[in-house]
Amino acid sequence: MRPLDEERADVVIIGGGGIGASAAYHLTEMGVTDVALVERDVLAAGSTSKSLGGIRLQFGDELNVRITRRSLDAFERFDEVVANGGLDVDIDLRQMGYLILLDSEDDLEVFRGALAMQQSLGVPSREVSVDEVRAMMPALDTEGVLAATYCPLDGRAVPEAVVQGYVSAAAGRGARVRQGRAVTGIRRTESGAICGVETTKGTIHTDTVICAAGVWSKEVAAHVGVALPVEPEVHWVFFSSKEGGVPSDIPFTIDFASGFYLTREHHGMLFGGRAAKIEELVEPAVRRLPLMADIEVESSWWGYYDMSPDHNAIIGAAQEAEGFYFATGFSGHGFQQCPAVGEHLAELIVGREPTLDMSPFGLERFADGAARLEPFYI
Ligand SMILES: Cc1cc2nc3c(=O)[nH]c(=O)nc-3n(C[C@H](O)[C@H](O)[C@H](O)COP(=O)(O)OP(=O)(O)OC[C@H]3O[C@@H](n4cnc5c(N)ncnc54)[C@H](O)[C@@H]3O)c2cc1C
Repeated sequence: MRPLDEERADVVIIGGGGIGASAAYHLTEMGVTDVALVERDVLAAGSTSKSLGGIRLQFGDELNVRITRRSLDAFERFDEVVANGGLDVDIDLRQMGYLILLDSEDDLEVFRGALAMQQSLGVPSREVSVDEVRAMMPALDTEGVLAATYCPLDGRAVPEAVVQGYVSAAAGRGARVRQGRAVTGIRRTESGAICGVETTKGTIHTDTVICAAGVWSKEVAAHVGVALPVEPEVHWVFFSSKEGGVPSDIPFTIDFASGFYLTREHHGMLFGGRAAKIEELVEPAVRRLPLMADIEVESSWWGYYDMSPDHNAIIGAAQEAEGFYFATGFSGHGFQQCPAVGEHLAELIVGREPTLDMSPFGLERFADGAARLEPFYI
């Protein structure tokens, strides 16, 4: 007889953020319902709940555009997913567009090249003049701005709601959700194949594991001797409940050179940047949007970006350990890619032809000298 604290699953997913939740949903949709999703905290407790929920088609790497395009399609029909779970979840998809301000000739050249690539994929992104920028955002100081890019399909959704929708739909089909349970080891046979997952509440026997542990994926993968080059990077977000005269219909605006960004949130504003401290954000924020000088920060939070060496995701199956799959290293754009990436992981496991070829984002690229830098890291 098997002890009570042992169970079996066809697939164990480690991590209950956007990636793990989407993988659970897509596996059950493809007929694999004996799935255990193991989360050491509560669902979405990691980077997913710290995210702004931003979704943009304005990338420099074509594969990122394709992945986010497919994911945006999924967000747009998320009601169907939720209907499967019988839960009333609203992901609040708002497509206010992303406006990216450019003040250097070098950046402008790179963004123009990217616009041509995006447009060739059917994305309605375009270059906008400084006059048009002023019309969209009259409060901006456009000194030094040469031009901007804009895509009306870009927007935001609520990450926790996406996780709830995916997980409840997966659970409705039989997936088991184990919260408050950390993975402490992964068992392998003598030949190296996966045979179980050790957790703080017993062992789960399985031959297939998805590592969706975000920035902690490096530690999880180390259990099977796989070296995932993912490093944590702290990012802050600031909130003011006052809108300071900024209209509610502004695009999500990013000053690309400094990284300062701003968007409206309910009655107030959300803003942030690449700066590690609020003191470092003040200068670029006030320079670009002078009214920021009178805005009081009322709350803030921080979370980790899961950084990879080339700012692109690391997705695939391990060569060193049969049955070990992973998706991490999203470098600040993992929420928006979770629908297509979860679908891809499920396709790899059930042996379906992948909808999108994500092999260029395989782990091997670093050893093969085939890293591909995503230039639009925000
Ligand atoms: C401030 C900020 C803003 C961001 N804004 C955006 C944005 O606008 N758009 C966008 O697309 N992305 C954004 N991101 C990035 C995005 O949040 C991440 O890329 C994405 O959430 C990663 O999802 P994940 O499921 O891979 O990881 P996570 O959400 O981190 O989930 C991993 C989970 O694994 C669990 N875990 C770890 N170790 C174990 C273990 N041993 N056993 C069991 N469970 C374990 C953790 O508790 C965690 O819940 C932002 C990030 C930050 C910090």
